[in-house]
Amino acid sequence: MTYNPDNIFAKILRAEIPNNTVYENDHVLVFDDITPQAAVHCLIIPKGAYTDQADFSARASDAEIIAFERAIATVVDIKGIGNDGYRAVCNTKENGRQEVPHYHMHILGGEKLPAMITG
Ligand code: 5GP
Repeated sequence: MTYNPDNIFAKILRAEIPNNTVYENDHVLVFDDITPQAAVHCLIIPKGAYTDQADFSARASDAEIIAFERAIATVVDIKGIGNDGYRAVCNTKENGRQEVPHYHMHILGGEKLPAMITG
């Protein structure tokens, strides 16, 4: 898949549309999902142009990968969901029902979540 710079998260990274930022560093941006599926629903995205998880895993630098993984702990801490738990989801391509073609991880929590696959 070729990276499309017109995707909505690329526009968020270019500050062309607003977001509710939870955390940011040189390599990642974390913000609240616009349509939350749980009491806590954040999206972690790399600042680099990666289409999906496998693309990021294959091509990102060590520094980018470390920053992304560390951002998980940071957002979990900021949102206070570490003790009770949460779910991390990376929808990928068509079968995974990925809607936005810029790699992202959903962090869902703040309440007891439904079963992972319901339909
Ligand atoms: P996907 O289905 O690609 O894994 O998830 C994309 C997510 O992006 C969805 O949960 C959707 O609500 C969220 N989203 C789509 N457009 C926007 C936006 O403009 N701002 C924010 N904060 N989230 C968005």
